Amino acid sequence: MRRTLLGLAFALLTPFTAPAQGLPPNELGRVMVLEYHKIDSPEERWTRTPENFRRDLETLYARGYRLQSLNALIDGRITVPAGTTPVVLTFDDSSPGQFQYVAKNGGFEIDPKCGVGILEAFIKEKPDFGRAATFFVLPGASKPNKLFNQPEHEGRKLQFLVKQGYEIGNHTLWHANLGKYDEATVRAQVAEAQVWVQRHVPDYKLRTLALPLGVYPKNLGWVQEGSAKGTTYRTDAILMVAGGAAPSPFARNFDPMHLPRIQAVEKDLAYWLDYFAKNPSERFVSDGDPATLTIPRDKRDKLKLSLPKDLKVIER
Ligand SMILES: [Zn+2]
Repeated sequence: MRRTLLGLAFALLTPFTAPAQGLPPNELGRVMVLEYHKIDSPEERWTRTPENFRRDLETLYARGYRLQSLNALIDGRITVPAGTTPVVLTFDDSSPGQFQYVAKNGGFEIDPKCGVGILEAFIKEKPDFGRAATFFVLPGASKPNKLFNQPEHEGRKLQFLVKQGYEIGNHTLWHANLGKYDEATVRAQVAEAQVWVQRHVPDYKLRTLALPLGVYPKNLGWVQEGSAKGTTYRTDAILMVAGGAAPSPFARNFDPMHLPRIQAVEKDLAYWLDYFAKNPSERFVSDGDPATLTIPRDKRDKLKLSLPKDLKVIER
């Protein structure tokens, strides 16, 4: 009884904001790709506290956002339900607070206070939120950023992420400033990150690259594809460290090699949530069917010139 009353009080106190449900589908709207760094205390420029991270998830859910995988987004395969808006979560630098195991009952379990623990608990409560996030890890960094800083659990963590449908992204081997190095070093940094991840998750391909410090290499081709260190790599999207909400993957101005992100800090998050609340027509709203593309009639000229042949465009 007590719990019910508390729950009711909480529901009444929580400001209710209209979710996207009710908005017509608009698959030419913009998408937020959120960029988290440390999940830890206290809150700082590059740190979100566990409590605030949990609150971000609650806010996104209440406002009709649903988790979308980055790889599916860049493939133009939007999988969130009709009437909801895809949002992509990304975590850079594999810092300890993002993913920790703790000893429990003679075994190990995910620390409920770490990023993955909070995310998993929230998804359990709200399965319709979806499950997706991309972890841009540093397999060869020094402590504490080398694969979440628990050497004995590195493999267990990467395998867990992949098994659960999360994605692992390339952030180079040890956070190299790619603008500073020659071709051989840049290629080795990208290739070796994949080699190190594959030691734990054989054959896993890192399809996306988050630029360390937001710095591009002198030649984009060096990171796009190639082979080095005994492996071949191919980068389907390059993520920047800033730039605001991303264009729809179906929009003519969508450029996967310059994909903007929103830093998940209080000010920027609040700005963009407010922006889409005030400008609902700019927000991506799914039609619920990955095989169709529903767009406002007057936005036809904003469509990409080359769309997959089997994608059916519906104007409304
Ligand atoms: Zn970084």
